[in-house]
Amino acid sequence: MPGFELFGEQEKKEVLEVLDTGVLMRYGFDGMRNNQWKAKELEVALIKRMNVKHAQLVSSGTAALTVALASARIGKGDEVIMPTFTFVASFEAILALGAIPVLVDVDDTLTLSPAAVEKAITNKTKAVMPVHMCGSMADLKSLKAICNTHKLLLLEDACQAIGGTYEGKPLGSYGDLGCFSFDFVKTITSGEGGAVITNNENYAINADNYSDHGHDHIGKDRGAEQHTLLGYNFRISELHAAVGIAQLRKLDDFIAIQQKRYTILQNALATIPEITFRRVPDTGVENYSFLSFYLPSEELAKKVNKALKDGGIDVCFYWFDNNWHYYRKWNHLKALQESGDLPAYSFSDFSLSDTYVSRNISCLIKLGWTEEEMKLRAEKMVAIVKEVLA
Ligand SMILES: *Cc1c(COP(=O)(O)O)cnc(C)c1O
Repeated sequence: MPGFELFGEQEKKEVLEVLDTGVLMRYGFDGMRNNQWKAKELEVALIKRMNVKHAQLVSSGTAALTVALASARIGKGDEVIMPTFTFVASFEAILALGAIPVLVDVDDTLTLSPAAVEKAITNKTKAVMPVHMCGSMADLKSLKAICNTHKLLLLEDACQAIGGTYEGKPLGSYGDLGCFSFDFVKTITSGEGGAVITNNENYAINADNYSDHGHDHIGKDRGAEQHTLLGYNFRISELHAAVGIAQLRKLDDFIAIQQKRYTILQNALATIPEITFRRVPDTGVENYSFLSFYLPSEELAKKVNKALKDGGIDVCFYWFDNNWHYYRKWNHLKALQESGDLPAYSFSDFSLSDTYVSRNISCLIKLGWTEEEMKLRAEKMVAIVKEVLA
């Protein structure tokens, strides 16, 4: 990660095909477009790669989450369970629909704790939204069992874990709906963009309509199309989709590179007895975009994080103090609660999350690093960590 590191001729070729026709919009203009349907083509490729029945491209990952929730008719007053460790897009999408984000602890997987989810369910709960952070997944089997028991929607945010699997299924395809982001720093990028995948035809039609002002996309005259529901504009452009086509083709190569580099780093860090690794649920296979590990205490994690930075090791993240990814710094969301616009239980005791996130450091695995560079980097990291621990 990220996909922009290996951007090249294939992406240019796809974009030029769009520019040659001048049709930058994904719908209509059949006569002008010389049979170029890049968004359609990328949706078909996603359907194939993710082994699902339907895919809907949209303008971003945040849009994908919003469209996915809307497609299942989640709305005003409905409670959606989401993790304390995620990206702000999780609650932005929920709030955009007038629904209520209910924050729930993460465990040693750095994703939703199934036990904590179960405790948070009320008679208003409609959906559970696990976020597969930093390349690895939530315990989907347990979450699905909980969702089945309580008749809740399981919506996977796979924006950071595209290409990983669980029980042999692509992440995003296990739940009722799955979402991807193709923003500029994701494993594959289209500049901006996102996708919703599902096996549910009803959700697929709603997603298609909702993301384009409610257009039913039936017939050849856009102006004469019907509006089946109230929607918005979350369309992707043909230019973005064109880049996405070339990047999706490279996804498996990217993951193979990331796995090799990740393994070098993990083997090196595993020689330090005080270091433990993030738990990957049984049957899960990561996409290896990050290596996440734990130090024995918050204090040591902070020291190691600082020492790594001072030692010139970039792209390692200490999420506990991050403004965008961890609940502690979401003052703008907390303000909603303080003003009475969000129920008080949205911020309760998250000591379980703190136990893990305060001790965690996640290191990005860059596609551009050679094996030699990764080995040197790993050696340097081991030396720095050992010095802090000594
Ligand atoms: C990037 C990201 C999103 C949002 O994607 P955008 O395309 O940037 O809107 C949502 N969830 C997670 C976990 C992400 O990492």
